[in-house]
Amino acid sequence: MKRAGSLAALLLAAALSVNPGHAQSEKPGVEKLYILNCGEGVAGDISRWSPGVNEGKSMDFVDTCYLIKHAQGWFLWDTGLSDAVAAMPNGLAPSDPRAVYWHRPKTLAAELDQLGVKPADIKAMAISHTHPDHIGNVEMFPTTMLYVQKAEYEWPGANNEPRFKPAHPVTKLEGDHDVFGDGSVTLLSTPGHTPGHQSLLVKLPHTGALVLSGDAVHFKSNWDNRGVPSNNFSKEQTLASMQKISDTLAKEKAQLWINHDKAQRDGLKMSPEFYD
Ligand SMILES: [Zn+2]
Repeated sequence: MKRAGSLAALLLAAALSVNPGHAQSEKPGVEKLYILNCGEGVAGDISRWSPGVNEGKSMDFVDTCYLIKHAQGWFLWDTGLSDAVAAMPNGLAPSDPRAVYWHRPKTLAAELDQLGVKPADIKAMAISHTHPDHIGNVEMFPTTMLYVQKAEYEWPGANNEPRFKPAHPVTKLEGDHDVFGDGSVTLLSTPGHTPGHQSLLVKLPHTGALVLSGDAVHFKSNWDNRGVPSNNFSKEQTLASMQKISDTLAKEKAQLWINHDKAQRDGLKMSPEFYD
């Protein structure tokens, strides 16, 4: 009898060890992440983002949005260039020829439609910052709760205009914020590029942790060399935010996904494929 009991215990232990580490009984917080094409362009002179380096050299850029399916609802990170850019036959020329000449091969509306997601289905959204290549479609989601840093929200726009429609539902943040209360989607305050720039830490069940860094950095060599664009709001804050991201990557064993880095994005799966 004693032998049979210990055999049963052994079998039970073996059965448990088949599936170590995965909390299968818990419903996953984040279920899927889709990478959306929110623009493509060519930067005229990348020394604009890395003073003194690669002067006069142009580089292809991409503009990326990320759609996250959480058990509690859809969450959109950044909205890209306005869908109106898709209808411009020559694209959107920058006023400074060193900046990015943008095109929009697909609209955000069409990309959501392809996934069967309606704008009203988006439960919450957040933007990394208020430059036009990130907030172009915020008003496609007039009833969606917008998470933004207070410092960004209150940063006066051109002619002292507000940066968002005052009627848009908003949660103004002062620091990091756990969006769904389960640690799976966390806004990280990473000021410097603009006064209230933020990044997003996402924890996927199989892919693992990702930091979506907005424009805390624009391309990989600037990350490796801690290059700070000359027109950033604060160089000091930019460097501190890069360090915060670096510390987060180490702590969470996270990958860094850089919004505008075409070389990196070209190696990633685009919607309708997804990460889980
Ligand atoms: Zn940008």
